[in-house]
Amino acid sequence: MAKTALAALGTSVFSEMTALAQQHSAVNLSQGFPDFEGPSDVVDDAVAALRAGHNQYGRSLGVLPLVRAVAAHSKRFYDIDVDPLTEVVCTAGATEALAAAMIGLLDAGDEVIVLEPFYDGYPATIAMAGAVPKVATLRWPDFAFDVDALARLITKKTRMMVVNNPHNPTGKVFTTAELDAIAGLCTKHDLIAVCDEVYEHLTYDVVHVPLCTRPGMHERTLTLSSTGKTFSFTGWKVGWATGPAHLIAAVQRAHQFLTFCASTPLHMAMALALDRCDHAFVQTLQGQYRARRDFVVDLLREVGFIVSVPAGAYFCLASMPGVDDDRAFAKKLVIDAGVAAIPPSAFYSEAVDEGRRLLRFAFCKSPGTLADAAGRLRRWAKPGDDGDPRGL
Ligand code: PMP
Ligand code: GLN
Repeated sequence: MAKTALAALGTSVFSEMTALAQQHSAVNLSQGFPDFEGPSDVVDDAVAALRAGHNQYGRSLGVLPLVRAVAAHSKRFYDIDVDPLTEVVCTAGATEALAAAMIGLLDAGDEVIVLEPFYDGYPATIAMAGAVPKVATLRWPDFAFDVDALARLITKKTRMMVVNNPHNPTGKVFTTAELDAIAGLCTKHDLIAVCDEVYEHLTYDVVHVPLCTRPGMHERTLTLSSTGKTFSFTGWKVGWATGPAHLIAAVQRAHQFLTFCASTPLHMAMALALDRCDHAFVQTLQGQYRARRDFVVDLLREVGFIVSVPAGAYFCLASMPGVDDDRAFAKKLVIDAGVAAIPPSAFYSEAVDEGRRLLRFAFCKSPGTLADAAGRLRRWAKPGDDGDPRGL
């Protein structure tokens, strides 16, 4: 018999929608992966690492070049001092870091505060640890942060708060004041913060501030990141956690038995890529993504959606007046328009009705793909003799 808490979560909505998009030859704006290649020198470095014989298990906490590159990256971008030997653990993507954090830090029955809409990996990994999620809602359309609602969730059993900044799926980037409010609760109630910052370099006109830099947070924050987004190689699954040695040691206890280490040659290549990742690289990346975001925001508005403009990450949440069943609408959009989006009710456990009015569109796609999606959505939205073809 399957573990009840996990069985209840079913199949990931990402697998489901990508399969549906393939089945109907739809333009896939559902699952968040780039449909273009990352930098070719990074691929060359991976080939060289394979040829150089970096093909066996690596150091469990991460190969030395990568942990050093991670520490140097934290210093370069945020002026954070990270000890590469004790304060970094490299994992198979941020996903494994998340699972190792939950399994390594939580006991059965511990309570964990999460903000919905959430990345679906949070409730799943909390369930793996036998812990219990307590959910506060960021509400459409501005996803404003209500510190009192968060405070009300805290009990004697609360051990951890999970924050995702920049935020998937809303595109929200937390302000320093919001981060300080979270920091205030964590320090007051002695909570561990797990801050998922995989989209740290994807912000548009706002600055990303790591939660661990706020007062009292260094010693209690585990920061997760991944090169999947920054270098457009989501399939490489190169991620890590950084934080104080006592938290990293707890994550490592789980990591050593989950995977022991991740792909050695890809970690070697990513160490070099991370060393080359400077402010100019990030500015170029942000410029490209800002153009994609603006294109998709304008397009969605043109075809009748109400859009919450994302300040970060590479997703756009949008509502269509009259829609209250996101799953049915997402399926209809695949079949009628040939465009796939994510039905985000899967990212809610409390305000599920809020999610039912929305769709999430990923804009980490090439200009050609976005133009194709635009053509399809415009044809779909154009009223014909029979009335509104969207069936609304
Ligand atoms: N956190 C968030 C918020 C994400 O959107 C994702 C998905 N890309 C991950 C974690 C997982 O990252 P990775 O692919 O590195 O495992
Ligand atoms: N993070 C990606 C998204 O939000 C998907 C990750 C996955 O497929 N597990 O679309």
